[in-house]
Amino acid sequence: MCIFCQIINNEIPSCKVYEDDKTLAFLDINPVNPGHTLVIPKKHYENIEEISEEDLAAVIASVKKVGRLMKDKLGAAGYNVTLNNGAAAGQDVWHLHFHVIPRHDGDGHKTWARRKYSDGETEMIIAKLIS
Ligand code: 5GP
Ligand code: ZN
Repeated sequence: MCIFCQIINNEIPSCKVYEDDKTLAFLDINPVNPGHTLVIPKKHYENIEEISEEDLAAVIASVKKVGRLMKDKLGAAGYNVTLNNGAAAGQDVWHLHFHVIPRHDGDGHKTWARRKYSDGETEMIIAKLIS
């Protein structure tokens, strides 16, 4: 059984932030900022391609509740909602989870590095995406 399923079953302790029938939110053990929370479906799905739309809707509703807690209870100025989907995207735990990371002005965390499209690259990418 995966580590997050063990957390759901209370076989591994966790600091629970929010729980309902379909979802659980608990503190990440290695936070980017204090209060960094993981929101998971109680049913095991590896990634966003696997999860049912009904369960995904429940997870997103919980993400929204947790985001509100970051602002109301922790005084966050904002928060990042992140899904690392697949090993190439940095997924380490193979039970779908959204990260909700409270952010504060000047907390020092950088956003994504950006680049520019080269000539003709947008046309090539969009042709692939919509073909
Ligand atoms: P990923 O890299 O898969 O998107 O994120 C996995 C997250 O799970 C990491 O941020 C890591 O700190 C967290 N994590 C891994 N094992 C445990 C655990 O046993 N308990 C808790 N609360 N978080 C965990
Ligand atoms: Zn699991």
